[in-house]
Amino acid sequence: MTHRCAVLAYHKIGPPSYLGWDTWFYVAESIFSEHLRTVKKLGWTFVDAARFLQGLNGSSPLPEKCCLLTFDDAYASTLTHALPVMKEEGCPSIVFVPAGLVGGTNVFDKDIEPDEFLCSWEQLKELEANRCSIQSHGMMHKKQSELTPEERHSEMLFSKKCLDDHLRNPVQMFSFPYGDNASGAGDITPSLRATGYQAAFLYHGGPFDLPDADAFAIPRIPIGPDSDIASLLAP
Ligand SMILES: [Zn+2]
Repeated sequence: MTHRCAVLAYHKIGPPSYLGWDTWFYVAESIFSEHLRTVKKLGWTFVDAARFLQGLNGSSPLPEKCCLLTFDDAYASTLTHALPVMKEEGCPSIVFVPAGLVGGTNVFDKDIEPDEFLCSWEQLKELEANRCSIQSHGMMHKKQSELTPEERHSEMLFSKKCLDDHLRNPVQMFSFPYGDNASGAGDITPSLRATGYQAAFLYHGGPFDLPDADAFAIPRIPIGPDSDIASLLAP
């Protein structure tokens, strides 16, 4: 039996920070809340990271239509603005953090997106305690295509080690910054496996079927304020 999966990819929930400006990567809480309710109304079940991995490796079946809620970069607003909505709607999530930038800002977006704080270790722990699985977005938010295979390996290895040292649950998933997996270069999947990952996520695509999907190139649906959830999840 195949299972339909959809992975939603958000960045920032709530308004831009002081002196910031609005961009497509900000989703108001009311719209975010409406998205979550629409997903459920359409018959999809939100699953957490552990359950998704069990489905991926075939050790436990997933619901017929399962949805994974993910956030990239671990903005502080994930805790302050997204978590209250997720608690209200009973939705678990995955937060992908650039491990070398914990407690800093989105320096990788300089002059492209407004400056925003990323979660501190304390804030990540609070998210972790509230059904948000903290996973790797590399160390320094680099494009894999601009790194050598050795540098890619280091990003995977050290980000996992750093997060494992600070947080309770082991890191098993990787989200490619900018969705850039170096066009699936031959070293990527072996490096991810060797450094202890079980899944890796892109930043494009739509719903997909399990068990057919490539666990190390899982499609994600980029979501912004104008996203039409019903049509994005349509068969
Ligand atoms: Zn990112």
